[in-house]
Amino acid sequence: MFILKSKSQLEKAIAKAMKIRTKVKFISFGVYSVKGTKGNFYTVKCERVGNEKQVSCECLGAAKGLVCWHSACALSLHVAIVRQRQTV
Ligand SMILES: [Zn+2]
Repeated sequence: MFILKSKSQLEKAIAKAMKIRTKVKFISFGVYSVKGTKGNFYTVKCERVGNEKQVSCECLGAAKGLVCWHSACALSLHVAIVRQRQTV
């Protein structure tokens, strides 16, 4: 799990996500399933806790507090959904 503070934190993960071009499935608001390179799926949760944006992924990298590319994929979808909700 990591706390999202700035976009620059995500840059490397986003670059990797763009290379891999995986599928992201919407499960519920803030919960997404990202297909990994080995065909397995990782559940990524994006949630707001107080003033912090917490992102958690099931992979080993995220367990160590790293920003993984699964999180970057899920976050890009999450941000799009949040924006849509705000304009409706
Ligand atoms: Zn991950």
